[in-house]
Amino acid sequence: MTAIAVHGAAGRMGRALVELVLEDPKARLVAALDRPGHAALGQDASIMVGRAEAVRIKLSEDLVHGLADAQVVIDFSSPQATTALLKRCAQLSLPAVVGTTGMDDAARHALDALAAVAPVVAAPNFSIGVNVLWALAERAVELVGEEFDIEIVEMHHKHKVDAPSGTAVRLTELVAHARGLHVARATVAGRTGQVGARRHDEIGVHALRGGDVVGDHTLVLAGPGERLELTHRAHNREIFARGALRAAYWVVGRPPGLYNMAQVLGIH
Ligand code: NAD
Repeated sequence: MTAIAVHGAAGRMGRALVELVLEDPKARLVAALDRPGHAALGQDASIMVGRAEAVRIKLSEDLVHGLADAQVVIDFSSPQATTALLKRCAQLSLPAVVGTTGMDDAARHALDALAAVAPVVAAPNFSIGVNVLWALAERAVELVGEEFDIEIVEMHHKHKVDAPSGTAVRLTELVAHARGLHVARATVAGRTGQVGARRHDEIGVHALRGGDVVGDHTLVLAGPGERLELTHRAHNREIFARGALRAAYWVVGRPPGLYNMAQVLGIH
């Protein structure tokens, strides 16, 4: 059995993970961690996710004790919280699976520092479908050629705090690379006012927010007289939790380094 700690355990993703870990006979939940002052601290993790049986793992803020028995930690929290977690993991050389998006420089630096001493899987999207979408998107941009304009549209629930989504950012990087464009110079986030005609070398990225949409991403390749759209729709959060758990099993025992979900899934 793999000993797993969940960081951000009281959040939407954290709860989905706690539930999955508790139901998987190959996994043992050793810690459910969340921020100091969270209303659910001290609650049994199993009861917290709506299961009948307690498991005697309480939601805790204590990283030091929480990580002591873990073989791997899975993180879906916030960039600041992830930074602190990764620093602690580096001290322990503890493998990690990181799903938090909107990472700042401090978080990215902490990620690289951990990857120097332990294996880490970081992915802005852990779903199988999205990882296949990324692979297809690169190929599609190459195949349609320069005449087709590239636009990206994403939609998420109204609680999402960062935009565009980490998945859309990654999609933009991949298609920019496939087209030979500099991603920062090519990206145009939304359009308003007298923006003029679309530049040939821009990639429009548009973030819709509303309701309880788990996550939709569409790549639009618009050419003369036709357009191709590749869309992925996430129906529930469990897909990300399943992917993250799969990554956790995969990462334990690997050499130190930063890995992505395509490597976990064997997509080349
Ligand atoms: P959420 O707000 O529901 O949950 C975040 C949790 O982190 C909360 O319980 C919060 O209390 C906790 N937290 C905040 N500060 C903390 C700290 N200092 N220490 C420990 N815990 C702390 O958000 P969510 O919808 O579960 O998403 C979490 C993150 O995961 C976001 O960045 C989101 O974009 C990302 N996400 C990634 C994927 C993926 O596949 N990579 C999928 C879904 C969401």
